Amino acid sequence: MVRATPAPPHLGVATSAAQDGDWRSWVDAMERLGLASGRVRELTAEDVRAICRSPVFRAGILLGLAATVQPARLARSLRRAILDQGVRVFEGSPVRRFRAGSPVEARTPGGSVRAPRAVLGINAWARRWRQFRRTILPRATYIVLTAPAPERLAELGWTGGEGIYDFRASLHYLRTTPDGRIAFGGASSRAGLGTGVGARLDYDAASVEKLVGDLHRMFPPFADVPIEAAWGGPIDVSALHLPFFGTLPPGTVHYGLGFTGGGVGPCHLGGKILSRLALGIEDDVTRLPIVGLRPKRFPPEPVLSVGAYLTHEAIVRKDDAEDAGRRAGALTTWLARRPRRLGYRIGPG
Ligand SMILES: Cc1cc2nc3c(=O)[nH]c(=O)nc-3n(C[C@H](O)[C@H](O)[C@H](O)COP(=O)(O)OP(=O)(O)OC[C@H]3O[C@@H](n4cnc5c(N)ncnc54)[C@H](O)[C@@H]3O)c2cc1C
Repeated sequence: MVRATPAPPHLGVATSAAQDGDWRSWVDAMERLGLASGRVRELTAEDVRAICRSPVFRAGILLGLAATVQPARLARSLRRAILDQGVRVFEGSPVRRFRAGSPVEARTPGGSVRAPRAVLGINAWARRWRQFRRTILPRATYIVLTAPAPERLAELGWTGGEGIYDFRASLHYLRTTPDGRIAFGGASSRAGLGTGVGARLDYDAASVEKLVGDLHRMFPPFADVPIEAAWGGPIDVSALHLPFFGTLPPGTVHYGLGFTGGGVGPCHLGGKILSRLALGIEDDVTRLPIVGLRPKRFPPEPVLSVGAYLTHEAIVRKDDAEDAGRRAGALTTWLARRPRRLGYRIGPG
């Protein structure tokens, strides 16, 4: 059972002067749409300190309608729910061949499945599919988990269970656990050449080491608390930072991709969209602009690999310099801003 307890709010904080006020456009948009009241509140640095005392936290925003989930519990509960509906699940069965016809056919080493309609939710692995190759860019994100140290959380005043993130372009996202740990996540610090989905997207020692340093900088009382686990995985970065949904010819296969590392909340809407597409139902949900959206394409190889490598590393260097109270060098800043200048919603503006 996934407990959706009355959820503590989410706190977005600036960790450098360059991030101050980066949330204003969100707040403005929410106000324009009449969605701000009771949902979002701007916080002074003092307000932020009342929630969590980190030496690097500045002002921020509090999002009132928020939740944190335990992802393993979520996955296991979803599995149990569909098994209860009579669905058969075949884990560890990689689809090696796929035909989007009538019927749809998916072939695995152990057997084939044929169905009148199918849904593809294959995240960064879509990069291996010709149809999606230019629409997503696989990147990695990693998490480090401390040992339980509830007394250190108390020292920080971070006892309300709030999820926290910063406004770096190479985001940090963090939460506590009921037994007093910090789970500290962040974008990979190294891009590496190539845009495939390989083992390094699951674990990269250099990125993990950097993440531990970032954790200690943000929360000095955790400097001597052991790190008990570290893991990662691929995310499907889309050019406009928006998921997109659609249907492949001849009309029997529907897909949802491009969650850009933030798919847990939107997947609920994604599920509604995909089930309606598969059942041929048209309504407000299937008329959303993200359905049938032609995603902006990334450049072809080798331009993408080289460009993604140079800009990714520059984005991280710029964030790190600003977090250290320095200005990033001119070349780093120029490179970090290239994606936005070229119309991609990636990196700083
Ligand atoms: C470390 C980490 C932390 C994250 N933290 C957050 C967070 O805090 N908040 C948030 O919103 N999101 C977070 N995300 C992102 C979130 O997990 C994804 O956005 C979300 O899971 C995307 O859902 P999906 O169904 O599109 O893809 P997935 O959940 O990745 O599912 C795709 C599945 O397709 C399978 N697959 C691919 N190709 C094949 C094939 N050929 N044959 C068979 N199976 C195949 C894969 O094995 C995978 O199981 C995080 C991701 C990682 C890696």
